Amino acid sequence: MEKEETTSEQVGTIRILNHEIILSKAKEGDNEGVIELFLNEGATEDQLISHATREIEKGRWWLWEYWEKKGLPKEQIELTDGIHSLTLYNFQEMPISDLQLEKIQGILQVFATIKEGIIFDEVKYILLDDVQGMNDKSGEPTNGYGPANSNAVTLYPNALRDVRNRVTDKVTNLEGTLAHEMTHGFPGMIFEGEMFFNIWTKLIGWRISEERRVLPGGAISIWETDFSKCVNEYAQSDPEEDICESMVARLFEPGKLDPKD
Ligand SMILES: [Zn+2]
Repeated sequence: MEKEETTSEQVGTIRILNHEIILSKAKEGDNEGVIELFLNEGATEDQLISHATREIEKGRWWLWEYWEKKGLPKEQIELTDGIHSLTLYNFQEMPISDLQLEKIQGILQVFATIKEGIIFDEVKYILLDDVQGMNDKSGEPTNGYGPANSNAVTLYPNALRDVRNRVTDKVTNLEGTLAHEMTHGFPGMIFEGEMFFNIWTKLIGWRISEERRVLPGGAISIWETDFSKCVNEYAQSDPEEDICESMVARLFEPGKLDPKD
């Protein structure tokens, strides 16, 4: 990605919004900043470019049209426990308060203790979005969005409001939401040879339902289980939300979980 000093063979350029990106063949031993592209023999230039665009955008939310259109964030804050770190970009008008930063730092420290902080491989940024949307599962204002493809947890204005967290009143909505959204990084991870999503669905007895279920916000769920096992209504949405809501309960109010689980 960086400008190459050496004479590696250029194979083309692509444009992602305002960025001209030079594609060149990596040489043996190149590691830093190298994005691997696997292409079929005889792939066309169009295929190369669309594949490269997808791979380059993965984890680089700042190249996404949605974020680039917002311009520069109002604040950039580095948080660390000395080993793991998160960079927070605030796109909201309101500066983040010291108390809110303390709460975020607390969540960072909690997740650093879970499986040696493996979640920080998935979550590297916190983005405070200035636009409030609705959650199509709960039908309520959206609190946040997980790190899917972006390495960033997004928090919406509602997450920073003084409202009760869905799972517990033992922590602020900011802490509960951040913990929930960071947990969205776990389901795709492999533990002992099996994807955590599959481990959880088996454990709780989640299965694909015969009938499509309409959630309170209008989204359709194809999943069902013994819903009495779920910590709240939102956890009944699907296995992923169940994982994330259960994590919040496990961390902050474990009495809410079925002791059998
Ligand atoms: Zn969620």
